[in-house]
Amino acid sequence: MSQALLEVTSLLMRFQGITALDTVSFTMDAGSITSLIGPNGAGKTTMFNCITGMYRPTSGKVAFDGADITGEAAHRVSRHGIARTFQNLALFGGLTVMDNLLVGAYRQGSSGLLQGAFLSRRARAEQRAAVASATEVLEFLGMLDLADVLPGELPYGRQKEIEFARALMQKARLVLLDEPMAGMSTAEKTAMTALIQRARRQFGMSFLIVEHDIPVIMDISDKIVVLDFGRKIAEGTPREVQANEAVIAAYLGTEHGAGADPVTA
Ligand code: ATP
Repeated sequence: MSQALLEVTSLLMRFQGITALDTVSFTMDAGSITSLIGPNGAGKTTMFNCITGMYRPTSGKVAFDGADITGEAAHRVSRHGIARTFQNLALFGGLTVMDNLLVGAYRQGSSGLLQGAFLSRRARAEQRAAVASATEVLEFLGMLDLADVLPGELPYGRQKEIEFARALMQKARLVLLDEPMAGMSTAEKTAMTALIQRARRQFGMSFLIVEHDIPVIMDISDKIVVLDFGRKIAEGTPREVQANEAVIAAYLGTEHGAGADPVTA
């Protein structure tokens, strides 16, 4: 059996009296699109935070490509090739689209901003590489002509794509997307879905997605993991999960399911 790209084993996360994750285990394959769904408060964001090093789990294990990364700090986790986007836009409004991409790149670079100010040879080389990489990413997104625009001048869907672009800049192997479709129009959701699929094809990236839009999730996912009150209640293909009684009772077919029909969504 081939090794999973991400393997979460018996993850437990307690906050004082609250058990946000109750011994949750799941795996995701390299090159896959896996989704994490569940009602509000089910533990989805907590799972993202435990994987990306923002929280140190109470117990359990997170392994990435065979390496134990449990409890590593966020900057170390990102060096393994794991990137994430956030539920709310985290763009710099005063910076152009290009500069928004470069900010992330400088954080990655080894020479740092201070040295960059003195423009050492190493810093200049890093700067050139970062600009080349940002140009490539903007080209991939069909946004090269928007490089000098401020994000606020663009439609919301485009702004979310810039966030996505920052994850692409990191050349991550696994990208965690926190509600990538939130607030989007149907057309924007279709564009974002296509973008995720294209990034997987072209760069071999894998995606772990938290999203409330059930039809989109059913359409895009290879595998779906369902959480409820911190517990995993199902894991399987969209078809398997749709037919799962516990999932229907807890989530699909209720108002939490964004109006999705569990049979036809
Ligand atoms: P939503 O869909 O609303 O974003 P979620 O599935 O992402 O919900 P979490 O945000 O992971 O759910 O929350 C799971 C539980 O853990 C909730 O009861 C929440 O209040 C609790 N929780 C999360 N983070 C903390 C924290 N830092 N301190 C205390 N409790 C927390």
